[in-house]
Amino acid sequence: MRKPLVAGNWKMHGSKSMVTSLLKSLLAGSSPQDAVDLVVFPPFPYLYRAQKLLRDSSITWGAQTLNPAAQGAHTGEVSASMLLDLGCRYVLVGHSERRRLYGESDSDVAARFETAVQAGLEPLLCVGETLEQRERGETNSVITAQIDAVLARCGIDSLASATIAYEPVWAIGTGKTATPDQAQEVHALIRDKLLARDDMIGSQIRILYGGSVSSSNAADLFAREDIDGGLVGGASLKAEDFLAIRDAAA
Ligand code: PEP
Repeated sequence: MRKPLVAGNWKMHGSKSMVTSLLKSLLAGSSPQDAVDLVVFPPFPYLYRAQKLLRDSSITWGAQTLNPAAQGAHTGEVSASMLLDLGCRYVLVGHSERRRLYGESDSDVAARFETAVQAGLEPLLCVGETLEQRERGETNSVITAQIDAVLARCGIDSLASATIAYEPVWAIGTGKTATPDQAQEVHALIRDKLLARDDMIGSQIRILYGGSVSSSNAADLFAREDIDGGLVGGASLKAEDFLAIRDAAA
C-alpha cells in the first residue's frame, strides 16, 4: 500500500512574511496522523525558515534543484550537503522549467539524481512531454528516454528512495490538466517499466501527477490506480487550496 504524497513546488515565489504565514497555516492544518505525506519546496533562501518552523512537524521540505558537484568554484550553485544542512529530505530533479529554461539534458538530470541519492536526499524526478511531442505520438518514447537516462547512470536500486512526478509540460501553469485517463496511461507505463526491472521498487515507488492540479480536479486524478498524489505549483501557494488537494489524496 503506497502512502499518498502531495508536494508543493513554490518555484520563485514568496517573501519572508509570505513564507512564514503560509508555513504557519500549513502547520495549523496538519497533524502526524495525516494519511498523506505533505512536502514543500520553497526557494533556497527560505529553506532555513522551513527548517525552523517545520522541524517538529509532520511536514517535510526539500529544494527545487541541486548542483551535481560536491563543492567548489560553482558560483550561484547549491550542493547536496548544504541542502542536508538545512534539513531537506527531498530535492526536485528534472523539472521541465529546469530542462527548458536552463538547458538541463537527460544526462544532466541523471547526474543530479545520482548526487542526490549518494548524499542521502530523496530525489523527486520530474518527467513529461511537450504538446508537440504528444501530438506527434512521442509521449511514451520521451518518458521512456527520460527514465532510461537515470536507470543507465544510477541503476534500478537508486529508485528505492525516489519519487517520480509525471508532469506533461503543456499542463504546467496553463490551467490545462491531463484527463485522469491520459495521466493514468502514462503512470501505468512508468510503473510497468519499473516493475519489469524490479518488482518491489516498481510496486512501491510513488508516482505523482503534476500540471495544473487544483482542489476541483485533484480527487478525480488521485482516484486512479497508479496516481499516488500530486506535485502542485500555483495551487500550493495558498494554504487552503493546498490542504484541500492534500485531503483529496487521503
Ligand atoms: C509544477 O510546477 O510542477 C506544476 C505542476 O505547476 P502548476 O501546478 O502550477 O501547473
